[in-house]
Amino acid sequence: MNSETGGTGSEDSDVVLYEVRGSVAVVTMNRPEYRNAQNSVMTYALDAAFVRAVEDDEVKVILLNGNGRHFSAGHDIGTPGRDVDAEYENRAVLWWDHVRKTGGDQRFAREMEVYLGMCRRWREIPKPTIAVVHGACIAGGLMLSWVCDMIVASEDAFFSDPVVRMGIPGVEYFAHPWVLGPRRAKEILFTGQRFTAAEALDWGMLNRVVPRENLESEAFALAEQIASMPSFGLALTKKAVNQCEDLMGMRSGMDSVFGLHHFAHSHNAEVASDSLGGMDARSMKTSAEQASNTGRG
Ligand code: ZN
Repeated sequence: MNSETGGTGSEDSDVVLYEVRGSVAVVTMNRPEYRNAQNSVMTYALDAAFVRAVEDDEVKVILLNGNGRHFSAGHDIGTPGRDVDAEYENRAVLWWDHVRKTGGDQRFAREMEVYLGMCRRWREIPKPTIAVVHGACIAGGLMLSWVCDMIVASEDAFFSDPVVRMGIPGVEYFAHPWVLGPRRAKEILFTGQRFTAAEALDWGMLNRVVPRENLESEAFALAEQIASMPSFGLALTKKAVNQCEDLMGMRSGMDSVFGLHHFAHSHNAEVASDSLGGMDARSMKTSAEQASNTGRG
C-alpha cells in the first residue's frame, strides 16, 4: 500500500508516514529497504502518529500497514539504522532510561519501554485499529499486528516467531496462547516455522484474507463500515473486549513471561557472546532456511 508523506512532527518522520483519508488515518511503516525492521526511531514515530490520530476528532479508525514488499520483519537486530542506544523520553512506562545502564538493568528498562510497554500502550488506543498485513510479519512485526484490534491480510502474508532459536521463549508481547490457543502457540514457537495467511485465518488469528490487489480496498471498506459507529461506543466496546481478554489472564500472563524472557536474555549474556545468543538477522535467516529444508518448508 502506498501512502503520501504526512510526517509525524519529528525530523525522523519519514520512517513512518501519516495520512488521513476521510475518517480513516493510515499509519505506514516506511523502512522498505529493511523490510520495515522496527528501530527506536520508528517506535517513537509510530507512537507520535498514533497520538496524532487519537487527538484528531475527525479520525474514527486507524489502519497500520507497511510500505514496500513486507509488513515488518520484526525488531531491528542488524540494519545500519539500529539505534539501541538512542535516547528518548519514556512514554510507555515510568522507569529510568536504559541508556548508560548495563546488563539486565539496561535490557529490562529498554524492553519494558520500547517493546512490551509500547505494545500495551498501542493496544489501548481508544479508537479501532486494523493491521493491514502483506508479505513478512515476523516476531516484532507479529507483535505490531497483534496489538491492533483486527487484522486483514493478503494471501501472500506469512507469519512466524522464530526467537526460540535464540533460546528465548517468544517475543516480548507474549500474546501467543491467547491469540493462537495453547497448542498452536507451542507449535509455532517450538518449530519457529512460518505459517500462512490461510492457516492464521483458520486458527482465528486473522479477520480476513483477501487477494493482494484487494488488500487496500478491503481494509478501507472495513474501516469505513466501522467508522459509521459512534466513537465513544467504539472506545467503550474496545475497552470491554480488552478487559475481558485481560481477565482471561493475558496481562498477568505476559508479565510472568516477560520475566522468563529476560532470564533467557541474561542466560545468553552469561554463556554466549551476547543476549541474543550470538544470533543476528543473517544467522536467523540462515538457520530458518536450514530448518525448513528438513521440516514442512
Ligand atoms: Zn527481548
